Amino acid sequence: MSEQAAYAKPLPVVTAEDREFWAAARRHQFLLPRCRACGHVWFPPYASCPRCLSFDRGWTEASGRGSVWGFTVMRQPYIPAFEADLPYNVVLVELEEGPLVYSNLVDIDNADIACGLAVEAVFEDVTDEITLIKFRPAGL
Ligand SMILES: [Zn+2]
Repeated sequence: MSEQAAYAKPLPVVTAEDREFWAAARRHQFLLPRCRACGHVWFPPYASCPRCLSFDRGWTEASGRGSVWGFTVMRQPYIPAFEADLPYNVVLVELEEGPLVYSNLVDIDNADIACGLAVEAVFEDVTDEITLIKFRPAGL
């Protein structure tokens, strides 16, 4: 992708805890940690289950579907790398599987964002190593 060389925004630092998550995102697959002991699904992908504290972690593929739980529209350049995007949205999406995920909504005017809006995941390849998971209104 030609824009990759120009990508100058902060990138996630991949750790041992979330390496599988980011590798899956690169394949355009949205994986969530799932506890083999109690079945709980959580995000972000910490090593242990936040419900029962088991380290017996597996993975389950998320449907990618969810709804807007909350959002804000950033209008001040708090982070210089995002200044050219102002005003931009930050949303908290409640996934069908339960976890809440911070992201951005794409393919929508900020004025049309509302809590409860049905959304679906989209994958944005920003570098050769990192693919970000964003959301757009469902059914586009
Ligand atoms: Zn558990």
